[in-house]
Amino acid sequence: MNVLVINSGSSSIKFQLINMKTKEVLAKGIVERIGLDGSKLKYLRGDNEKIEDNREINDHEEGIELIVKYLTSDLLGVIKDIKQIYAVGHRVVHAGEKFKSTVIIDDEVMNALKECIPLAPLHNPANIIGIEATMRKLPGIPMAGVFDTAFHQTMPEKAFIYALPYELYESDKIRRYGFHGTSHFFVAKKGAKFIGKKMEELKIITCHLGNGSSIAAIEYGKSIDTSMGFTPLEGLVMGTRSGDIDPAIPMYLQRNKKMTYFDVDTLLNKKSGILGISGISSDLRDIEEAVEKGDKRAKLSLEIFTYRIKKYIGSYIAVMNGVDLIIFTAGIGENGPIEREMILKDMEFFGIKLDKKRNNKIFKGKKGLISADDSKIKVMVCPTNEELEIAEQTLEIIKSNKK
Ligand code: ADP
Repeated sequence: MNVLVINSGSSSIKFQLINMKTKEVLAKGIVERIGLDGSKLKYLRGDNEKIEDNREINDHEEGIELIVKYLTSDLLGVIKDIKQIYAVGHRVVHAGEKFKSTVIIDDEVMNALKECIPLAPLHNPANIIGIEATMRKLPGIPMAGVFDTAFHQTMPEKAFIYALPYELYESDKIRRYGFHGTSHFFVAKKGAKFIGKKMEELKIITCHLGNGSSIAAIEYGKSIDTSMGFTPLEGLVMGTRSGDIDPAIPMYLQRNKKMTYFDVDTLLNKKSGILGISGISSDLRDIEEAVEKGDKRAKLSLEIFTYRIKKYIGSYIAVMNGVDLIIFTAGIGENGPIEREMILKDMEFFGIKLDKKRNNKIFKGKKGLISADDSKIKVMVCPTNEELEIAEQTLEIIKSNKK
């Protein structure tokens, strides 16, 4: 039984075809630069056969058509025809307050997603275009929508309402939503299992640290707080995003630096974070290299990045009145021992004690504890796999609907 996972952006479509019995990725890839010069398909078959097909791809429909052509081709394909795709799972960024879990896509769901466009003006239109194109190219195959925001819908009001006039929540749904939900849920579930427990029995803090970073407090299986808010700009310091700042700064920039709304948007989303502080790169590997060479601002960017995470961990321990398990995931969380050590240093007061040898291990996509045996709190690395989680949730909902 195969599930196709689609993550559609404004000019790209990422895909993975997963065999749900073996959890094997049969093929995956990306269609890039849709509607632009230099469009192409990168296709990687499970046995490592790699293809790059440079050709004109004018829209998402042509992109999906090309993906299906490769998946079913005699020479490079992994299935005979589209009937071997049991279901399609679409990653959707924003479901507002409409959906608290994965749903089967129908007309009503599509209308609801369109209503959420003002909340995610860049992401949701691209997701919608991708879903509509897939529906046309894979007719009759059931599809599910898996939302980045859904897992955090359990947050209590005190965690998601901003201290703004309440009418803005009522009229415009301005509130905290949180993102990376599929990843936080996946690693919390897998991490709990790894230590022989269920996530429903534990207080867990999950740190998803990639280009975009967020952290979540998960109490007995439910997300009760997370660092991203109305948009993915709030919270931690990220590759190019500022995370939390004094909200008066944008006003200052507009008034005193004569910046436009658009300039401020670009500054906070694209020119800030690790890149902004260091002036070197948004990639922590470059930062680590620069620190080795004695670059002061690179060192400062690393300190600010890890300090902010430490502060969030402390606050989530406070709101949950404790924590049993802290999980690191995504690019930096899985591969950054220096960053993990800086974050967890001097937290013995909380019962957190790192085992340096375990922390310095190269995990290469594997799970493992990094806390010392006598650490009261367990700390671990757990690789995320959002595509697999999307495929599993898709399979579950489509199967239960067919019964
Ligand atoms: P995305 O949010 O785009 O999915 P990833 O989860 O792939 O991002 O994380 C990308 C980031 O992971 C890179 O910017 C880089 O800073 C970091 N990263 C990857 N490998 C390492 C490493 N070995 N050491 C430190 N950071 C790493």
